[in-house]
Amino acid sequence: MYRPRSDPPPLSSAFLKLPDTLLLVFDRSGHLNLISDAWSEALGYGLGELQQVSFLDLLYEGDREACREKLEAMGRNGSTTLRFASRCSRKEGGYLGVVWNLTYDAAEALFYASAHETAVHLCAEEAHLPEVFVDGLTGLPNRSLFLDRLEHTFRRQERRPEMRFAVLHCGVDRFKVINHSLGHRMGDLLLMSVANLIRNTIRPTDMVARLAGDEFGILLEDIRDVSSTLHVVSRIQQKLQLPFTLHEHEVFSTVSFGIVASGSEYQQPELMLRDANLAMVRAKEQGGGAYMVFDQDMHDQAVRRLELEMDLRHALEKGQFQAYYQPIVNLEQQTLAGFEALVRWNHPGKGLISPLEFIPVAEESGMIVALGRWMLEESCRQLRQWRERFPAARELSVSVNLSSKQIVHAQFLDHVRGALDQSGLPPTALKLEITESALMQETERAIALLHALKAMGIRILLDDFGTGYSSLAYLHRLPIDTLKVDRSFICHLHEQENDRHFVETIVQLARRLGQDVICEGVELPRQAEILADMGVGYSQGFLHSRPVAAHEAEMLILAGLRPGAA
Ligand code: C2E
Ligand code: CA
Ligand code: CA
Repeated sequence: MYRPRSDPPPLSSAFLKLPDTLLLVFDRSGHLNLISDAWSEALGYGLGELQQVSFLDLLYEGDREACREKLEAMGRNGSTTLRFASRCSRKEGGYLGVVWNLTYDAAEALFYASAHETAVHLCAEEAHLPEVFVDGLTGLPNRSLFLDRLEHTFRRQERRPEMRFAVLHCGVDRFKVINHSLGHRMGDLLLMSVANLIRNTIRPTDMVARLAGDEFGILLEDIRDVSSTLHVVSRIQQKLQLPFTLHEHEVFSTVSFGIVASGSEYQQPELMLRDANLAMVRAKEQGGGAYMVFDQDMHDQAVRRLELEMDLRHALEKGQFQAYYQPIVNLEQQTLAGFEALVRWNHPGKGLISPLEFIPVAEESGMIVALGRWMLEESCRQLRQWRERFPAARELSVSVNLSSKQIVHAQFLDHVRGALDQSGLPPTALKLEITESALMQETERAIALLHALKAMGIRILLDDFGTGYSSLAYLHRLPIDTLKVDRSFICHLHEQENDRHFVETIVQLARRLGQDVICEGVELPRQAEILADMGVGYSQGFLHSRPVAAHEAEMLILAGLRPGAA
């Protein structure tokens, strides 16, 4: 270690914790007060030679001016930490690309510059440094540098098994909405502000990187346990309670965090980051501004989801899907009005899998388009067959669920026409169920589509009604025939007045708009009675029957379904 001046200032403990760090200390004139041996090795100069030069001399000429400006600004504006990239000239030729962690100690008027050894790469002069491992927008290290540093942390842990570290995957909540509504420039400014906020909140020796789009990664080293990471999270969350001022706009933003703590199960940086990402996705599902610590359950679920995704690809051609049917009952006449078709997956190894589990997977992979088309064709074919075979089935209808991914598909209307043509089922016997949230995603286009379906004679049901956001506001704009009141309003109907008021309001509203009402999830005779008294037209639920396979549904048709008999 070269120490030209009598007493080099004491180093902060944060630096001392990093034995592999390349460290140098220089004063405002750039004179080097201290330089670690590692630098002499990396640059190929003897310590004696390094005594003669200033910090800026170490840098590649083309980077000096930018660096000088940064250092001056740092002295002026009182900021104490800075991270930036530059190239350093090596004695034997060639360059080192370095991501510097700079801290300015105003009391001593000294700069502490550290660079992690993984942040130092050999590069050619022409190499455009920022593209190598620095994110152009925020100036933060990018994903590959983050993984690189993480890899290094793994190696350190091998030597010091008691060392703990954590990876945080953070995502700016609803960033797309901000980008969309305020414009990309504002989106960029927001990302820069968030990047700065995180950078100024963590210790200089920790790392924050921009992983992609609105996602950042934080590496916290030498932590006690997960609770230390929670402190960091809460400090960031606290700062985010104030709005950012971006071009005179005040923008509030929240960030969701997925956290993974180091442990023996991780051998690869990519896997650790992947799990942190998974935990972040879960945190986002909490509605924003939350964090989630990754655990084994999440891991198991992720593995299962991945398996499902792979198996789903062939499930259709292997005939593993089956349509089940749940009766919809006319409450006043106590007769069967029709069925809702609900898909089931008979998985050869895992048994019957609930649509609640595989529909989201099918939506994500795009499989839902083919699956939804199959359900449409199968349900139309089945009802047509029943109508032909059983006089009691002549007036029945079938409701088929639609996913938002299906309705935006260019061939969707052709699929519907095809299902009707192939089966010979009249369009008036087909109903399509769509949720508010599906409509919200592509409002204008979805509305046009609903009108087209309606023009064909098909009826439209608004599913899970009451669980969406702005239902009442646009209800009159939609060509909806029937509101399906969500199960959550029905299950406590017999004991909660609020729910009764809600359903009553819906019945009145529907009447005014000329719409029918179906209540879902009716399980108790008392609930059916209350609904009938309110004038609700139709009911569906376990009280009448669970969803059943086609041959059992036939029995219900033949028996002439009696409510409460199932
Ligand atoms: P959903 O459209 O709201 O369907 C009603 C769900 O409530 C069904 O669950 C049904 O079994 C259940 N249910 C009916 N009555 C009762 C009751 O009295 N009590 C309780 N606790 N539950 C009742 P299922 O079959 O598991 O389907 C779940 C969801 O999966 C459906 O909710 C629907 O969103 C989706 N889904 C099912 N089949 C399809 C399909 O073919 N295409 C699409 N896109 N989604 C489907
Ligand atoms: Ca439904
Ligand atoms: Ca529903």
